[in-house]
Amino acid sequence: MTDTSTEDVRMTVSQITELYNVGSELVRLAIPNVASAKSVVNIRKELNELGYDIPLVGDFHYNGHKLLAEVNGCAASLDKLRINPGNAGSKHDNDENFKTFIKIAKDYNKPIRIGVNYGSIDRDILTKLTDANARQKVPMPINAVAVEAVVESAVHAVDKAVEYGLEPNMIIVSAKLSDVNSTVTAYEALAERIKQPLHIGLTEAGVGLKGIVSTSVALSALLAEGIGDTIRASLTPLQNGRTEEVKVCQNVLQALELRQFAPSITSCPGCGRTNSTSYKNLAADITRYLEKRLPEWRRLGYSGMEKMIVAVMGCVVNGPGESSHANIGISLPGSGENPICTIYENGKVKESVRESNAYNAFVASIEDYVKRTYGRLNTKGISS
Ligand code: SF4
Repeated sequence: MTDTSTEDVRMTVSQITELYNVGSELVRLAIPNVASAKSVVNIRKELNELGYDIPLVGDFHYNGHKLLAEVNGCAASLDKLRINPGNAGSKHDNDENFKTFIKIAKDYNKPIRIGVNYGSIDRDILTKLTDANARQKVPMPINAVAVEAVVESAVHAVDKAVEYGLEPNMIIVSAKLSDVNSTVTAYEALAERIKQPLHIGLTEAGVGLKGIVSTSVALSALLAEGIGDTIRASLTPLQNGRTEEVKVCQNVLQALELRQFAPSITSCPGCGRTNSTSYKNLAADITRYLEKRLPEWRRLGYSGMEKMIVAVMGCVVNGPGESSHANIGISLPGSGENPICTIYENGKVKESVRESNAYNAFVASIEDYVKRTYGRLNTKGISS
């Protein structure tokens, strides 16, 4: 999701292209007012002119029914419309607003995402469930009521959307809470109760390591159960900006072997068997090198290198083993070992090099391996 003002077309287009370039496959924009609803038309136009056909999702709260109805081109410029049923309007007109929103989605043939968040849960449903729970002999913990309310709100909104004429297969659902266990339980319940695709994520996951770890745990638990069709990491951005969310999602999918985005690096944590920092520096340098080279390999038409496993290991204990299990690996010498690094390719020793030459020799080996293995063959059978 972008965090630029949607009214600022230039900044928003720039951020969308940045997200797309790191691998985002769907971008959501906040559309809080008329000015941003108008901007969406220009944002779509500029992206098309630049050759970015990334789908855009409009994020609406409170006034989505009005903006979509009143701003020419807004609905048509979007690929999906997100509505939060807890925020469709004030209590007395909530249902009418929701009905209008659904009619517009239907008229424009746009799928919607019913996006329930515990922070903006439908108060009627929460109050009803809280009161019923309080009347129980042994009331459930408050977290369990929260989960039930989120799930109930999502299921209720799906039923209403279908009742108001939207095809069931035009609905995607999310039900996010900000703690891992509740989020996982809510999605498990939703997967049992509805057939719609689920957009999964942990909302308001937080800053830095805490946000990344919590998000990864929640997403992984669900994906390992086969739950989840689109995913998002909701991180408070620090120095790495918005693209960190995309990278976290890619790493989760790659760790679970559901998708491949970039070569995997196997590197050991180091221990008292090596007092050298060479392998740590080498692991970091090779990681950066692969990140830098991947777009160029793609540009050259190489394919499949995302599946490559590269090992950088610290000593003889696990170095030869891990390096030979990788497509290409290097095992550095630990303390007291002969100061020679061994490069492996597909399980076989390729060459031994001096430690001082490890980076250059390993990079040359990687380039050679990638070209031979993933390079596009030209008419003479030579990799180009
Ligand atoms: S490979 Fe060697 S240096 Fe690395 S963690 Fe294992 S024992 Fe320690």
